[in-house]
Amino acid sequence: MSLLPFDPRPIITIVMAVALLAWVIVCAVLFVRAARRSMATSGCVGRMRCEHCGAEYEVGASELMRVGLSKSVSVTKTRREGAALVDEPHYLRYSKKLPCPHCGRTTYAQVLNINELRDATRSGFVKAGVTHLLLMVAGGALVLLVAGVAMDIAQAWVVAQLQGLR
Ligand SMILES: [Zn+2]
Repeated sequence: MSLLPFDPRPIITIVMAVALLAWVIVCAVLFVRAARRSMATSGCVGRMRCEHCGAEYEVGASELMRVGLSKSVSVTKTRREGAALVDEPHYLRYSKKLPCPHCGRTTYAQVLNINELRDATRSGFVKAGVTHLLLMVAGGALVLLVAGVAMDIAQAWVVAQLQGLR
């Protein structure tokens, strides 16, 4: 009898890889949502300046995050901190297409306090990042654990089949 028994182990490996990948994607999506929510609830207000008429007005952070910022120009400044050189992103200009309450045109409005908004939301982003990274690691460990147990069972099953063939 030369027929080899069916070996489910490659299937377990593939399922494990797919589950891990899916979990990473789920965590990334949850992170983006949590980060947006933390910005929306931070109570930050964006000070906008209409690029058409120059009027200044305020927009809530949740409104700013809803469609996202666009047409950004940012430069990275390198500054010296102690002995190390630190790169610090510095947004020169950050704009978003919004309906202006003064001239009524939907046009680009510059976010005047982007650096302030960045500082205020950074802590929320870091917190959401750490939470979801831990979630990712925990979920990944669980998948590996389940896959390990499944592999052991499959191994025992294959061995028992081989012995039965003999
Ligand atoms: Zn305007």
